[in-house]
Amino acid sequence: MTRSAAGPDPAEIYLDHAATTPVAPEAVAALGRGVALHGNPSSRHSAGQAAREAVDGARAAVARLLGCAHDGVVFTGGGSEAINLALLGTFAAAEWRGHLVTTRIEHAAVLGAAGAAATHGVAVTVVPPDPSGHVDPERIAEAIRPDTLLVSVMHANNETGAIQPVERITEIAHAAGALVHVDAVQTAGKLPIAPLRADLVSVSAHKFGGVKGVGALRVPAGHELTALIHGGGQESGYRAGTENVPGILAMAAAAEVAVTASADPVVRAHREHLRARLLAGLAELDGIRVHVDSRVMAETVSVAFPGVRGDTLADLLDLRGVHVSTGSACHAGSESPSHVLTAMGVPADLARSTARFSFGSTTTEQAVVAAAEVTVDSVRGLRRSWGATPAAVAVGAG
Ligand code: PLP
Repeated sequence: MTRSAAGPDPAEIYLDHAATTPVAPEAVAALGRGVALHGNPSSRHSAGQAAREAVDGARAAVARLLGCAHDGVVFTGGGSEAINLALLGTFAAAEWRGHLVTTRIEHAAVLGAAGAAATHGVAVTVVPPDPSGHVDPERIAEAIRPDTLLVSVMHANNETGAIQPVERITEIAHAAGALVHVDAVQTAGKLPIAPLRADLVSVSAHKFGGVKGVGALRVPAGHELTALIHGGGQESGYRAGTENVPGILAMAAAAEVAVTASADPVVRAHREHLRARLLAGLAELDGIRVHVDSRVMAETVSVAFPGVRGDTLADLLDLRGVHVSTGSACHAGSESPSHVLTAMGVPADLARSTARFSFGSTTTEQAVVAAAEVTVDSVRGLRRSWGATPAAVAVGAG
């Protein structure tokens, strides 16, 4: 499809908010204000101080999103960096001693940082989820050892939407003397994250209407954290580098909109309604399987369509103006089935037949209904054409 450089094609149905969201108009305006503030926030002169004040104001707004004091906010270059700072910064400060507990359904940023910590000598236990896609807090309790320094669990899974029992896990970890990091990248701006009692919380601006490449980590007072990026001592010494003033201002503006929306029962009810409408439309197809349908974010719908490949379906939907994903955006193009679905015990062929539909602030009922119709028609067409090739059907059915 051809796309205008000025923004999304108005005819497109964008159901990939879990990969990234359209930038909120408030964030676009803030971005412009940030670009106009040409001073370096570390400069003494008034141009620098104007930029400093703007960043301080933005920090207060992001602190409200994260539920912490404003000096507890460390701006980063995105969610992956916030996560790496949380995990590697905590273990580096402990001279790479101690034990990390995490789960098999985490985002690659957590699993990658855990792997990097292991190369420094940190012991790592990776807990599997239940077949429902949820991590049982008792499995975390069993994994915790006397030397467990940190437990890292996601608030909701990016592929399935499964909401994890992070409050119960935090209670268990704290009772055992361990710290907790929550990857709230998928939930910020959708579920309230300020009340989370975790110590460290990671968020990413582009998942709630900000721009890509900006994130934040909530760090409690007195937490021992070693910077990963060394230099001029910005962000209280936790993250060197001249601040991304436009991106930070845009993140703050998006956070204010998102915090208000996430607290609004009308918005929540609308998203639940969108989910129900999508599933009702898709239910016209035989044999579909919704991977997680309880304790799940309304906004994320992961469905297996036996008899078709998820990547083929996503490509066909794209040609028809509907943007969905086969799972995590980072796995697009990968032949191996999703590590999340595999960890849940979903057979490889069913995992490969999966598509993820994800909504957000700009999603309308009309778009969801139309997307369901196009999907039903596309799956029927693909099943018919695969039906002409028995071997191929055997790969997809399962
Ligand atoms: N954690 C989760 C659950 C995510 O979904 C993502 C992005 O897909 C990340 C972390 C990484 O965030 P970023 O894209 O800002 O690096």
